[in-house]
Amino acid sequence: MRLLTEITGSTKLCGVIGHPVKHSLSPPMHNAAFAACGLDYAYVAFDVADVSAFISGIRTCENVVGLSVTIPHKIGVMSCLDDVDPLARLAGCVNTVTRQGSRLLGSLTDGAGVLRAFAAHQVALDGKKVLFLGAGGAVRAVAFALATQAAPASLTIAGRTAEKVCALAADISKACRIPVHAAMLPDDLNRIVPEHDILIHGTPVGMHGADPNESVVPWDLLQPGQVVFDMVYRPKWTRLLRDALALECTVIHGLEMLLYQAALQFETWTGIPAPIDVMREALENKLEQDQC
Ligand code: NAP
Repeated sequence: MRLLTEITGSTKLCGVIGHPVKHSLSPPMHNAAFAACGLDYAYVAFDVADVSAFISGIRTCENVVGLSVTIPHKIGVMSCLDDVDPLARLAGCVNTVTRQGSRLLGSLTDGAGVLRAFAAHQVALDGKKVLFLGAGGAVRAVAFALATQAAPASLTIAGRTAEKVCALAADISKACRIPVHAAMLPDDLNRIVPEHDILIHGTPVGMHGADPNESVVPWDLLQPGQVVFDMVYRPKWTRLLRDALALECTVIHGLEMLLYQAALQFETWTGIPAPIDVMREALENKLEQDQC
């Protein structure tokens, strides 16, 4: 972390905007990456209630070069920007703002971050049947990226509210050529879990503060050899991932999504490859500190 006295008018500023934003995991990751690469950049947390006023303000502050956007501004910020990239437009939200000259551009790195996490774990998505558990914002962001930037055999969206599940499946179907199915939780679990190659969990079940022994997927439906990715990152070892590991599935932790979406932001803002190991260490340290 840089000292405030080291920040000058030529320091490039990045930050996270949210409301509230005091528990953000992003500053340690980005600041560690800037330091490791010897960049005169600093990353801070902005607690922003009025996103429109904030964006108007930073337009004239040219050393603000990038923002991470979090709850509750991921949708509202879009109308304040000069342009939004096609994937973010499809998903209907942005998590990244980048200054390009006098313009502020919105993009979404959550889905691309998950694709990169799969690649880093040598998990190929091409030709695979992928099941999403949940139909909220995080699943929406990742499912559009998967449907349009990878080549799975099919996608299934499973959730507990039929209108949301059907609406999301229909939206994704319009954006790609692969079959997209809708399924209900928990009624269809017995049928759908065993028949998919890759499971991506995107509900809050099992997260810190809820019952740590709860899982959306009964353990005896998991199949050895499946890939199970849990978007929940706190705790690292959710019940779902513990069950999956015991059944010899390949497991990918939720913190990989946090890490790679941040790495993509870093690369967008700086134009250089992200120091992944440095960012991972900073993220793991922060998660550990928060648990104490
Ligand atoms: P969200 O928009 O509120 O969506 C939550 C989804 O979970 C909805 O489909 C909701 O169904 C469903 N759900 C909630 N409780 C459920 C239950 N008991 N049984 C079955 N389904 C249930 O939230 P989100 O932003 O998508 O976040 C979802 C999860 O992903 C959270 O755990 C969050 O921490 C995690 N996440 C992780 C990352 C990362 O970087 N690793 C990033 C974003 C989110 P209804 O619509 O029917 O209520």
